[in-house]
Amino acid sequence: MTVPSATGTSISTAICPFCTGNATRNHGVAVDESGSRFPLRQCGDCGTGFLSPPPSDAELTRAYATSYYGEGDTKFGGGIEGLRDFAAAGRARNLVSGLPGRARVLDVGCGDGRFLRWLGKQHTGLELHGIELPGPAAERAARVPGLVLHSGTLNTTNFEDASFDVISLVHVIEHLPDPAAALDRLVRWLGPGGKLFLAFPNFESWQATWFGTDWFHLDPPRHLTLVPPRSVIRRMQTSGLKLIHQRHWCPEQNLFGWIQSALNACDRHRNFLYERLKRNRGYHAERTIAPAVHLAAAAALTIPSLLLDAAAAAFRSGATVELTFQKSPSDHVS
Ligand SMILES: [Zn+2]
Repeated sequence: MTVPSATGTSISTAICPFCTGNATRNHGVAVDESGSRFPLRQCGDCGTGFLSPPPSDAELTRAYATSYYGEGDTKFGGGIEGLRDFAAAGRARNLVSGLPGRARVLDVGCGDGRFLRWLGKQHTGLELHGIELPGPAAERAARVPGLVLHSGTLNTTNFEDASFDVISLVHVIEHLPDPAAALDRLVRWLGPGGKLFLAFPNFESWQATWFGTDWFHLDPPRHLTLVPPRSVIRRMQTSGLKLIHQRHWCPEQNLFGWIQSALNACDRHRNFLYERLKRNRGYHAERTIAPAVHLAAAAALTIPSLLLDAAAAAFRSGATVELTFQKSPSDHVS
């Protein structure tokens, strides 16, 4: 995952970080696992939600501590890791269809390299590149066969224009202080006919609207900017890309979002179940009865959440979305 640079602290508090509009309004106060509070604003023009003022460097460093990535050799336990693999394999299968024999792929904020590993399995001719900060996730990514790991962030890495046939950002753009500049850069790195795949939380989803500051995918202070899909689509179309696929049915993210958001609305200890699933046993370890209570509540909420999630997907209001864009085959780099 790409940690935003220190320059994020200098952004004006009233200006939208995506469209630079100044018609922004208060959107409540988001709370993290430690109880720290982060005021949230929303842009009246493009709908982007953003933390304002931005978190300090110290707060971000603490938020990306080892416990964020999971304290074992993997982020979660075996069953959940299996579900994440299943989801990554499905995404990879859709994305590689129609790619040329020797395609170049870049995954920005590649984490443990899971998505690249599945892309490589689906299409053996791919040249795989990943960008990730040094740390536990990058160490896992370095073990993926054939993966070229670029250590750093989007801002500290550079490529020639039109370098890649596929660029993916799976739950990364919400971590960036300036997502518009990042997207513009990625469009330049994309070759003619290349595909850009984005997965990110939907700030205008049913979940986000119903649960407000209890919404699981707010995830402060790591999620700095939550740009609605309509505004991402509009910007990419302005850049000459065509939306070729969108998906709101992402149960591996959205189903748990319903459950944890409902639990957050009932228990002031933020994301308790999620932290337990990550085996972060240092988090409120004194609450010895709570894990069983949260698990029982989660079990009771599973079926209603599944039904709500299916309805939300049908109305294109999934809590997270996946968008695939394609650059025109005749696009020339200027
Ligand atoms: Zn805006």
